[in-house]
Amino acid sequence: MQHISIETGADGIALVRFDVIGRTMNTITAAFSQELEQLVERLKGDAAIKGAILTSGKDNGFIAGADLVEMEGDIARWRVASTQEELAGAVADCASLSRRLRAIETLGKPVVAAISGLALGGGMEVALACHYRVVADNPKIQLGFPEATIGLLPGAGGTQRLPRLIGLQAALPLLLQGKPVSPTKALELGFVDAVVPAADLIETAKAWLLSVGDPVARWDRKGFKLPGGAPYSSAGQQIMAGANAMLRSTSYGNYPAQEQILKAVFEGTQVPMDAGLRIESRRFLNTVQTPQAEAMVRTLFLSMQALGKGQGRATGRERFDPRKAGVLGAGMMGAGIAHAHALAGIDTVLIDVDQAAADKGKAHGDNLLDKAVRQGRLSQEKADAAKARICASTDYGDLAGADIVIEAVFENRALKAEVTRKAEAVLGSNAIFGSNTSTLPIDGLADASQRPESFVGIHFFSPVDRMRLVEIIRGKRTSDATIEAATDYVLRIGKVPIIVNDSRGFYTSRVFGTYIAEGYEMLAEGIAPAIIDNVGRMTGMPRGPLELSDDVALDLLDKVTKQTAADLGSAYVAKAQDGIVDRLVNQLGRLGRKNGRGVYDYAQDGSGKTLWAGLADLAPPSIVSSDAALVERIRLRLLYRQAIEAARCVDEGVIGDPRQADVGAILAWGFPAWTGGPLSFIDSVGAATFAAVADELARDHGDRFAIPPLLRKLAEERGRFYEAPIRQKAA
Ligand code: NAD
Repeated sequence: MQHISIETGADGIALVRFDVIGRTMNTITAAFSQELEQLVERLKGDAAIKGAILTSGKDNGFIAGADLVEMEGDIARWRVASTQEELAGAVADCASLSRRLRAIETLGKPVVAAISGLALGGGMEVALACHYRVVADNPKIQLGFPEATIGLLPGAGGTQRLPRLIGLQAALPLLLQGKPVSPTKALELGFVDAVVPAADLIETAKAWLLSVGDPVARWDRKGFKLPGGAPYSSAGQQIMAGANAMLRSTSYGNYPAQEQILKAVFEGTQVPMDAGLRIESRRFLNTVQTPQAEAMVRTLFLSMQALGKGQGRATGRERFDPRKAGVLGAGMMGAGIAHAHALAGIDTVLIDVDQAAADKGKAHGDNLLDKAVRQGRLSQEKADAAKARICASTDYGDLAGADIVIEAVFENRALKAEVTRKAEAVLGSNAIFGSNTSTLPIDGLADASQRPESFVGIHFFSPVDRMRLVEIIRGKRTSDATIEAATDYVLRIGKVPIIVNDSRGFYTSRVFGTYIAEGYEMLAEGIAPAIIDNVGRMTGMPRGPLELSDDVALDLLDKVTKQTAADLGSAYVAKAQDGIVDRLVNQLGRLGRKNGRGVYDYAQDGSGKTLWAGLADLAPPSIVSSDAALVERIRLRLLYRQAIEAARCVDEGVIGDPRQADVGAILAWGFPAWTGGPLSFIDSVGAATFAAVADELARDHGDRFAIPPLLRKLAEERGRFYEAPIRQKAA
């Protein structure tokens, strides 16, 4: 065996180490999975072996899950299986790991999983097939079943063993929501048996093996540990019904993986284990065959991973590795950016107009670090080191020697020009200057720069510590070297970069803006606001468009609209939104959530919100009851409007890589994950069908639904964004 080694001691305990060659982290490749079969043969065949400990030979985790990169071809094949023979073959393929894990479970000798680091998905399922699980005591270790979050179902026994082990009530959220938990939480829930210091892991496993006595007696005839009660009972029925209802009310049928998981659990708990596992394999295939699984695996796993690694970077140039950075403006964004630097080990000068403001920005980062220590996510030592990396200052002279500066002062052209000049006077000729502007075109801002080739937009999202996306904006004069350096920088601070060309609203705000604008169009047409926001949530967006406008802040929307009208003309402005928002802000002082008054009124104690009654005077509702046709029309308008704008961005060369467009949409503004992003959505619908629906929407509601030439071409040629070579216009 190449990926699995066995070492048997005099005590008859086999120490089995997983070390998948060619992978930085253990993942379940086809070769590794096959070796599990040989492992079982060896453990069974060697009479000297009394029990086994399965552990990782790598220091960064147990097993991270199935190797989806390698499996992409298989998944594509399974997806299109349709004849009886193809389907049977696909189910058998899907069941291969599951069968091998069942063989471990029914080996007749006790097996312990000794887990020193993360165990996710298939990795956690390997552990569940063991008879005892001991985990290193480290709150950073993640244990769980994230399959549902990428449109899949735990297909190697997870849906069968977990409910049997810990009961339905505890198992369902883990399987349906896919959120991993820490070792202590897993212990509390009951799917690990012991949490011990990392150094004691193997000894603890051994001690259990040597004390277990007759192993078979501890499991039922079918070879799994008996749960506390029968998994399926009248209480179980109630739990299932509750879970079903909750799923319907929160995911509106958008996530077939969750439905399949629920069915696999429901059906599986009523039959013996082996039958349950067969049901699971079939349900796994059903899930894989949904368009949601295709789109989600691609965007949320493959593309996300590729972008997070910085694929597509032209080789040859040395990686940009900033040691010292400057951040101009210690407000909400600047403070967050400096904090991200400190965590990544980059010394940072954080500058504001007076020392108190600079100190306040630093304190924000310090507080986040303290919180991480309290929650056990960071050691005190690392937090102290990070704190020491931020130097709060008012002196631009302190920027000397910085490799990169991020400007995050007020959104004001003249002020940004002034700080650009002040910083460049001190910086070396190789330094990168990044502006965090959210609305001002990069080309205009670069006019203030002595070295516009080193000037680039680096657009963070708020709150910086939680938002993973960073939009890198290439101005007309930005050099390739600067784009690469900016990409390296974003990766270095652990964020996901997308690269876009300069355009009004760049990519993210431009497309996101259409969602809000469409909500206001509907409001102006007389559709009741509650219907608009409800259907918005039903599409899978985190909030309805009107609620979101309150969150963004109505005065900001008003300001951006007016700036756009001044720069580009009123044709570029969303008129319905402008009319209503202008009155809300300028006549009524309703700024949105931030002053507790917007489209909604917000309770002062933060307990909730109610629709503002006065809105009915501004936009009298004439459509107050919803029927299925209206709901469907609203749903289409909200989704299509965004997807068409994203396609326009590709057509105009604002964004070149569909993966970046899709990942960006999901990470930046919560475009529904089930779609895999706006371009994946068009692909799933099929460009021709999409175009026909868009044409109808354009006829009924106006040119904002007119599709761009590239999409028309895809529709005519039955092309796809993910196959068609995407044209990238020169910046
Ligand atoms: P903010 O008002 O919280 O902070 C701006 C800071 O800049 C203030 O502390 C101010 O004192 C400081 N400042 C003003 N003049 C300065 C000078 N000459 N030198 C140094 N500091 C100076 O604003 P923010 O929300 O952090 O936004 C900053 C920038 O980031 C803006 O361009 C904004 O458009 C952009 N942005 C904001 C968000 C967001 O959600 N708030 C998101 C992305 C980008």
